[in-house]
Amino acid sequence: MAPVVNKPVMLEIDGKQIEFIPTYHPAATIYNKEARKGLDDTMALVAERLRPEMRFGGFMLDMDGTIYKGGNPIPGAREFIAYLRKNGIPFVFLTNNSSHSRDFYSDKLARMGFDASKDDVLTSMTATIRFLISERFGRRVYPLATPDVVKEMEDAGIDVVDDDPDIVVLTFDTTITYEKINNAFHFLKKGAEFIATHPDDVCPTEDFYDIDIGPFIRMFEQMCQTTATIIGKPNRLMLEMAAREMGVRPEDTVMVGDRLYTDIAMADRAGTQSILVLSGETDRSMLDGSEIRPTVALGSVADIPDLIEGRRRPVL
Ligand SMILES: [Mg+2]
Repeated sequence: MAPVVNKPVMLEIDGKQIEFIPTYHPAATIYNKEARKGLDDTMALVAERLRPEMRFGGFMLDMDGTIYKGGNPIPGAREFIAYLRKNGIPFVFLTNNSSHSRDFYSDKLARMGFDASKDDVLTSMTATIRFLISERFGRRVYPLATPDVVKEMEDAGIDVVDDDPDIVVLTFDTTITYEKINNAFHFLKKGAEFIATHPDDVCPTEDFYDIDIGPFIRMFEQMCQTTATIIGKPNRLMLEMAAREMGVRPEDTVMVGDRLYTDIAMADRAGTQSILVLSGETDRSMLDGSEIRPTVALGSVADIPDLIEGRRRPVL
């Protein structure tokens, strides 16, 4: 079902004019039927009704563009994580980037002053490893992956092989070579299953983008007449794993991210709540032009505690 989007309205709060975009998705539980009837009344009242209907069982947090940008934390993000910890609200950091292990991300977060450990991080690689163990147990795997990711797979008990695999696993391999590509081509042609950690075409860098694995997925699919099983965002598998990790029902989770077509699309597909933050890739004009709608749009994660506390100020 299509999401319902309303025109932005201006609210006067503490003497300041603040723009608010009320949106809801039928699959989400933001508004009950009673509240929907009132949509055309006063948008300020809609904003008032929104909060009690939103549940904050646990947060799934995208990292790049949401928690930090390049090597710097988003202002207020550390305080937001501290707020979640203090209030016992579960959370997990999610990333589609499969070029690094979980240790890499927890170290990176710690260096920026976040109170986070390896167990708080779920990468598309971790999700893929869990998928291989639970759904493809004992199969032989040929990975296109960096050495530390290959090690993470081996440490998890995956049977990593150089030849004659049952499965080719494509990750964001920044050490990819012609030899690896050609090997994978041969294995897939001979009928190996094709699994990819995530679908992104590009990966944001400090000042531009790097090529990610999407174009490689299409190349192998076209060359080998196969279709990849994709594990990361926007596949709801990742979201369900994160919910299980936090001990929260998927419908009680909130996905927070800066990308409409991965972060918010995943929440959309899984029928869960989502918060789009405008601190990363997406700006207002992209949000206005997109069919993918978050439950709420905010400036950044720094605004979330106020949303939870029921103050109106953070609404965009
Ligand atoms: Mg992001």
